[in-house]
Amino acid sequence: MQPKLGVIGGTGFYDLAGLEVKGTFPVQTPFGDASDEFVVGEISGKEIIFLPRHGKGHRLNPSVVNYCANIWGMKKLGVTHLVTISAVGSFREEIKPGSLVFIDQYFDRTKTRGDDTFFRDGIAVHISFAEPVCPVLHRLLAEIAGQLAIDFHSQGIYLNIEGPAFSTRAESRIYRSWGADVVGMTSLYEAKLAREAELHFASIAEVTDYDSWREETVDVPTVLANLGKANAAATKVLLGLIDRFPPVTGQCSCESALAQAIVTRRDYWTDEIKHKYAILLEKYL
Ligand SMILES: [Zn+2]
Repeated sequence: MQPKLGVIGGTGFYDLAGLEVKGTFPVQTPFGDASDEFVVGEISGKEIIFLPRHGKGHRLNPSVVNYCANIWGMKKLGVTHLVTISAVGSFREEIKPGSLVFIDQYFDRTKTRGDDTFFRDGIAVHISFAEPVCPVLHRLLAEIAGQLAIDFHSQGIYLNIEGPAFSTRAESRIYRSWGADVVGMTSLYEAKLAREAELHFASIAEVTDYDSWREETVDVPTVLANLGKANAAATKVLLGLIDRFPPVTGQCSCESALAQAIVTRRDYWTDEIKHKYAILLEKYL
């Protein structure tokens, strides 16, 4: 399969700067509608698929984003490498608002959104998730950032809360004591679904504030004020990635994540299952 880059933009990241748009397309998925139409375009002659996670105009909060439809749509459009952008709060003094963090671990503090797996209809799948991001793509992003004059951290633990409310001060201090580096509401779902979809996945966290542990009130104007700097830095990293795309292959197992993960016996794969999950399962039939 030809390597193709997909990008999901977060809060304040509703367009990809420099993208020469060829068209926008709705994509039908077995999980309903994605956050918006997928934008198909080119940068430096390379095709890119872009989707604003919260929809144009930021209509969808993190609890109502249809993560399954978003990732499925990317897979259906032939994306092989997915980079997502997410606004986060920082639990560390040294991880400053306006900087970027290249996430390499997650901690789940969500409740029961129920959209962190595609497989719910008579087929059981358990993906390996000890290393939740593609090591090759993650390393490349950090390497590119290192060549730019931007403030970034090459690793970070992302604690995913339910939202849409921000954390209380007690929660924020407890999460910080657990060793988490940043807090957000979206990235974990995308990481899990991207692994199920056998995509190479990496997440760029844009630090917008210090959450509430530091006795600063977190409010929307503060968050938005720090986004400009972080968005500009993330855009530079993405353009660097596009320049060097595709990364080397054969040094990660993302593309065969389902090979050892499907527990349901093949003779129990009904025609409905084979049809619904065709783009993921056909290589294993
Ligand atoms: Zn990979």
